[in-house]
Amino acid sequence: DDQPAGNINGHIVFKNVDFGYTDDQLILKNFDLDIKQGESVAFVGHTGAGKSTIAKLVARFYEFQGGEICIDGRDIRTFDLPSYRARLGIVPQQPFLFSGTIMENVRYARPDATDEEIRELVYSVGNGEWLETLPDGLQSDVGERGARLSMGQRQLVSLLRVMVQKPAIFILDEATASVDPFTEVQIQEAVDMLLSQSTSILIAHRLSTVRSADRIIVLRDGGIIEEGSHESL
Ligand code: ATP
Ligand code: MG
Repeated sequence: DDQPAGNINGHIVFKNVDFGYTDDQLILKNFDLDIKQGESVAFVGHTGAGKSTIAKLVARFYEFQGGEICIDGRDIRTFDLPSYRARLGIVPQQPFLFSGTIMENVRYARPDATDEEIRELVYSVGNGEWLETLPDGLQSDVGERGARLSMGQRQLVSLLRVMVQKPAIFILDEATASVDPFTEVQIQEAVDMLLSQSTSILIAHRLSTVRSADRIIVLRDGGIIEEGSHESL
């Protein structure tokens, strides 16, 4: 029990997983899935299909009732939780920003990151052009829960946070809110950089995100009904 997760690489396997938010209704039944190290998988499907549930189970937000989820051959429940979470970079459907600067918000997942390191990463995405629209660049205050930023900019900050973290596993639960085309390009750049560095679970709403994935899985009622590449589907 409580093994440090510092050296996990990110080969994710679901074996016969049963899960329900309540005991009387299973959302996933005998769910099997193998995501190779470095692979990116996009989940698509109707609302309530179970897309976010899969991401939440990998993140260990809930206990499942049966089966197991392994990473690099180890049951995820045996990892020490803080060190496990430190290896997961999660961009939730609703990014949570706190009142403070963009720099502070980006640093959140890895407090030891230096200003220089953060600056370099932020400017590696679209040459940091989106910062030019803000009053104080990286030092701009994002406001209460990010209220002074557009939804797209909040997603971008959430993605940059994960980039600074350099996780083994990248989980993107994409927001459905529409984003202006300029910010969209920068978001796509950040997503592509993360895809090239981590095993990725994408809950995709934008076609460009679906296209960047190695494999697309179509879910219906908690089960896989179809899978393949973007070309084959
Ligand atoms: P969306 O596209 O709307 O985000 P989704 O595919 O992510 O949908 P999930 O959030 O995984 O769907 O939900 C799968 C099922 O589990 C749905 O029937 C949903 O109502 C139910 N569910 C989700 N979260 C909870 C919860 N916290 N408590 C109880 N039931 C839940
Ligand atoms: Mg969802």
